[in-house]
Amino acid sequence: MNSWSDESDQLSQTRPDVEEHVEGGLLQLAYRNNIANIAVNMVAGLGISILLYASSFDRQILFLWLTALLLLTLTRIALQFRVRSLHLNFILADKRTVNRWYSVYAMGLACAALLWGGLALLIRDTASAEIQFSLLIVISALAAGAAGILAPQLLIGRMYIILMLLQGSVSLLVSVHPKYVLGCLGLIFLIVMLVAHSNNHRLLRRSLELRFDNQQLVEDLEKQQKALEQLNSSLEDRVKKRTRQLRYLAEHDALTRLLNRMGILHWVEERERHLSADIRYAVLFLDLDRFKQINDGLGHSVGDYVLSETAATFQRLLPKQCGLCRWGGDEFIALIAAPASLAAQTGEQALETLRSALAEPLEVSGNKLHIAFSAGVAISACDSVSVSEAIRAADLASGDAKRHGRGTTRYFTHHLSQEQERRLFLAQTLKNALNNSEFSLVFQPIVAADLQKIESWETLLRWDNPILGRVSPDEFIPIAEDTGDIIPIGQWVLSTALSEFAGAGFAGSKSRLAINLSLRQLMVPDLPRIINRMLAKHHIPPRQLILEVTESIFERRERSVIHATLNELSNRGIQLHIDDFGAGYSSLSRLHEMPIRALKIDKSFVQSMDERARAIIEGSVLIARRFHIEVTAEGVETMDQCLALQAIGVDSMQGYLFGKPEPGFSDGQQLKDVCRQVYGSAENPESAVSSRGF
Ligand code: C2E
Ligand code: CA
Ligand code: CA
Repeated sequence: MNSWSDESDQLSQTRPDVEEHVEGGLLQLAYRNNIANIAVNMVAGLGISILLYASSFDRQILFLWLTALLLLTLTRIALQFRVRSLHLNFILADKRTVNRWYSVYAMGLACAALLWGGLALLIRDTASAEIQFSLLIVISALAAGAAGILAPQLLIGRMYIILMLLQGSVSLLVSVHPKYVLGCLGLIFLIVMLVAHSNNHRLLRRSLELRFDNQQLVEDLEKQQKALEQLNSSLEDRVKKRTRQLRYLAEHDALTRLLNRMGILHWVEERERHLSADIRYAVLFLDLDRFKQINDGLGHSVGDYVLSETAATFQRLLPKQCGLCRWGGDEFIALIAAPASLAAQTGEQALETLRSALAEPLEVSGNKLHIAFSAGVAISACDSVSVSEAIRAADLASGDAKRHGRGTTRYFTHHLSQEQERRLFLAQTLKNALNNSEFSLVFQPIVAADLQKIESWETLLRWDNPILGRVSPDEFIPIAEDTGDIIPIGQWVLSTALSEFAGAGFAGSKSRLAINLSLRQLMVPDLPRIINRMLAKHHIPPRQLILEVTESIFERRERSVIHATLNELSNRGIQLHIDDFGAGYSSLSRLHEMPIRALKIDKSFVQSMDERARAIIEGSVLIARRFHIEVTAEGVETMDQCLALQAIGVDSMQGYLFGKPEPGFSDGQQLKDVCRQVYGSAENPESAVSSRGF
């Protein structure tokens, strides 16, 4: 057997359903061929009857035989029609039905065979040799036909062929005048027909087996294909789902679940294409005020809570279809679409809603936090070409709002972008200012409150650029702080100021020199050692140096580093003063945490000197006394301010009234004049000068 038939055998073995299908198929075929068998039987029967009728054969017997044949034929035809009318499909039918109809079929054939066999026996002794031959030929022809027609049924076919030929041949052999040759030929023919029949059957069976196998194979393949398709589609679904998840992660902020930078830009990109010409975006840039203090002061978990609560409030109150995003740390962006003529108004209304919602303080672990934001507004296509440019414009406007009193809203103007351009240009130019020797120093006297002496000088930086002219430190210092250039610039100020101070002969005197120090400088490692080296170089004892720092030292997360640096500086004898006191975050309660020697009341309070300002100055003086801290008032321009401050009890004063910042160290003449005005003939105006240590 070749491997192919091995395989098919294996298949039919391993699949009983194929076997059953084959049996059913064979029965189906048998019934299909049956009609031919019935017809041939009937025709042959009629033919032989005519022959017998013409001979001397007993007509009564012949009549009976013919009637039997006719009845059998009619019964078989009726059953055949029954099968048809029932639409019996033996391939799909159950085993019992198959068996039943198998028996019916077998019985029909058996009866037919018996009829023919019987006829052969009946004529054995009476009929002429001619008739006997004729019958044998007819029976042989029927048997030969059966080898083909009955090929579907092995047993029944065999039975039929044997019954037909065996009876015929035996009757020839055992008749009164036995015809041995014919009888033997009949038996040989029987064997040949049996072999032919069984070959035919095998072929038929194999071809059916193959057909059903193939069918099964195709069905299996189809099933597998379907399963594969299902698997593929579920895989595809999963890939799609995962892609969606990944995109969500990439485009959303984990903490607030709002869109992130990438998400909002993508959001804009998707909508910008379909935006009708009349629609604009009101871009709101919302920057939380003093979030850093909350984060640093109360911890990151509180900071996170504030951010997610604020985000939830924004999301709840802003229109559903607006784009809301966490742009960065404490910055949010809302994009609200509106018709061009209403865009600004829509933005304004949204801001109002948000501000009033945030007016309620947020309760976090026992703390009541007031959350406010500075807002910048820009309108797409009015203030910018694209939405992303409008975002930049709104960012710029919010930066402006932050600089000019928090909690406010600024609208983008082209003036703002010019300012921004100037800031950028300043930042660029500042990089070379030190190398180009564009900086110089001026010194402003700080006088004792009794106006008897100049106690110290504050060092103030000046920048003269060939293109920009003189640039105010209020403008360039914040930029230098942002870019980090303040560190080398600050070093230059320190060393130049000390050198000029020593050059003017102050080293070792009672006079002091105050130098402003930015927060970033305080974070330079080794700052105390660097300053110490500079002091030593100019033989200036540390007690002569004052460093002015701002209240920001209390806010920062790097507080411990700053604290350590300030302590070290203080331990070496350098004085630390808090500059612009009251202007920043009120840190009265924390004064004792740092080694502070004096407060400088911000000039804005001195210059306003209204009830509120006076209360703040008086309060500061009171608390400072408690902590044994001195108080300096800066920005004193008028005699009234001077007298009021004397009455409140500040320790020292600074301002144009006593001397403007000037190159070199003033001779105290201006102070003498003020003193004379205050005390009439001046109590001891000379002492003011003598105390300078000249
Ligand atoms: P500041 O430390 O508060 O300096 C005092 C500012 O008030 C100076 O402005 C001074 O010129 C001004 N001023 C003094 N008396 C009066 C007055 O009677 N009326 C008015 N209206 N103003 C008065 P300036 O020199 O423009 O400095 C501005 C700020 O720049 C300084 O404020 C300080 O924060 C910063 N700054 C200046 N030089 C340096 C420096 O070398 N390093 C650092 N880190 N910052 C500096
Ligand atoms: Ca200062
Ligand atoms: Ca100040």
